[in-house]
Amino acid sequence: MQQTTQMAQYERAGVIPAFSDAHCHLELFDNVKKTIVDARNSGVGIIITAGGSKERNLMTLDILKGNDVFGVVGIDPESAGRERAFIDDITEIVKTSNRMIGIGEIGLDSTVLGRSDIHEQRFAFEKQIDIAMELDIPVVIHARRALKEVAEILERKGVRRAVFHYFEGNEEQAKDLSKKGYLISIPPISSGRIKKVINVTDINNLVAETDSPVVGKTPSDAIGVIEEIARIKNVESADAAEIIMENIKNYFYI
Ligand SMILES: [Zn+2]
Repeated sequence: MQQTTQMAQYERAGVIPAFSDAHCHLELFDNVKKTIVDARNSGVGIIITAGGSKERNLMTLDILKGNDVFGVVGIDPESAGRERAFIDDITEIVKTSNRMIGIGEIGLDSTVLGRSDIHEQRFAFEKQIDIAMELDIPVVIHARRALKEVAEILERKGVRRAVFHYFEGNEEQAKDLSKKGYLISIPPISSGRIKKVINVTDINNLVAETDSPVVGKTPSDAIGVIEEIARIKNVESADAAEIIMENIKNYFYI
């Protein structure tokens, strides 16, 4: 029953499958191929998988070689101190893989300061922003209790394309950042705050993510997020799915 409804929606959207997951971690799944096939069968066409540590970035690169998914490569705030040397390899990795479409997830995280010094985090973040700007590709932002400073750094650096993975700001911040042309990525959790963020953000600046398997279970959970966006924006699910997929395609030149 569910399957039939979704198929009808794809046909209406003129895209099969129509849904998209802007952020997950395929390298953390036991069976990557099955995860991708299951997502496709449930209606998720575009999947963007993100690195983090050096090892996970290399696993991501491997996944892109054998699967029709996209990825972003970057040293996350938690790995910033230990693995800054890897940052020098990023340009080459992006150049050798046409499915590596952004730098991420990068940013600042004040919840991991015990493991990763804030100065190291800032250094890694800024260096990777420079790389993204040189390559003219978007950055995928990880900001935990650090949104204000992250936004200031992006502003100072003149970054034009940034996706705020697992957006944790309020509606004022969402409005502000989306007016700058950034994308707000909605996680698979339901809360009053998230609803307000969706409500005030232009649908052309919204994408949906699962952050699976860390937060959502699988990339298929993006469908529920997109349906929630559709409800709040008062549009058909198929239309929301199509707009959100276009947002991703335009931003990442897919
Ligand atoms: Zn993530």
